[in-house]
Amino acid sequence: MPEKRTYADRAEYLTKAVAKRRRKLKAMVVEYKGGKCILCGYKRCVWAFDLHHVDGANKEFGLSTRGLTRSWEKIKAEADKCVLACANCHREIHAGIVQLPGGIQVEKRG
Ligand SMILES: [Zn+2]
Ligand SMILES: [Zn+2]
Repeated sequence: MPEKRTYADRAEYLTKAVAKRRRKLKAMVVEYKGGKCILCGYKRCVWAFDLHHVDGANKEFGLSTRGLTRSWEKIKAEADKCVLACANCHREIHAGIVQLPGGIQVEKRG
C-alpha cells in the first residue's frame, strides 16, 4: 500500500521539478537573448516572449513545452539562430506587419 502512495508522490514531485526547470530555462533563454523584445523593447513578463528564427525557415523554437526539456547547450545553440520578440511583435512579424530591424544579424553571445 505505501508503494502506490510513494509512486504518486514521486510523480507529483517530478511534475513540479520539470515545471520548475522549464521556468528557470525560459528565464535563462530570455536573459541570454538580451531580456527584451527586439522590436518594441518589452521586457515585463518572461512568458510573453517567443524566439523567432531569423533564417526564415519555418522552424520555430518552442519555448513553452518540448523545447525546454532539451539541454541548455542545445537550447543555446537554437537560441543563437533566433531573435527575442514578445508575443505581440512575433505575431506581427509573421503577419508581415512589421519587419525585423534592417540587416539584422543574429549576434552570438558568450
Ligand atoms: Zn515586442
Ligand atoms: Zn517566428
